[in-house]
Amino acid sequence: MDCIFCKIAEGAIPSSKVYEDDDMLAFRDINPQAPVHVLVIPKKHIASADEINETNSAAVAKIFEKIPHIAKLGGAVNGYRIISNCGPDACQSVPHLHFHILGGKQLPESMG
Ligand code: AMP
Ligand code: ZN
Repeated sequence: MDCIFCKIAEGAIPSSKVYEDDDMLAFRDINPQAPVHVLVIPKKHIASADEINETNSAAVAKIFEKIPHIAKLGGAVNGYRIISNCGPDACQSVPHLHFHILGGKQLPESMG
């Protein structure tokens, strides 16, 4: 499958890694929107949050169990925002489930 985040998960495309284990990879966004901008992806391809179901949700639970650790490794020591853009109206640009972790500054109150 021609998926850039699958290639990053395999190591075929380099990334600035923050955290990795058997199930997930966290790496710095190439176009950061905040001083801390980390993406967390499951290694197994899930297209978006709209594709989460009872057979693949364990991977999502594992990511959320690790997010507090990943956020601090990434440098978000005073809070952070977790975002997952899903589908065209949310401007999802990479069709592999990812959670943005944003922090390192006071973020705007508005989310949409
Ligand atoms: P979204 O628009 O929510 O689908 O987010 C996709 C994110 O992936 C954007 O913030 C991009 O800057 C980021 N991105 C795309 N390609 C790469 C890459 N090769 N390495 C790191 N981040 C990337
Ligand atoms: Zn993928």
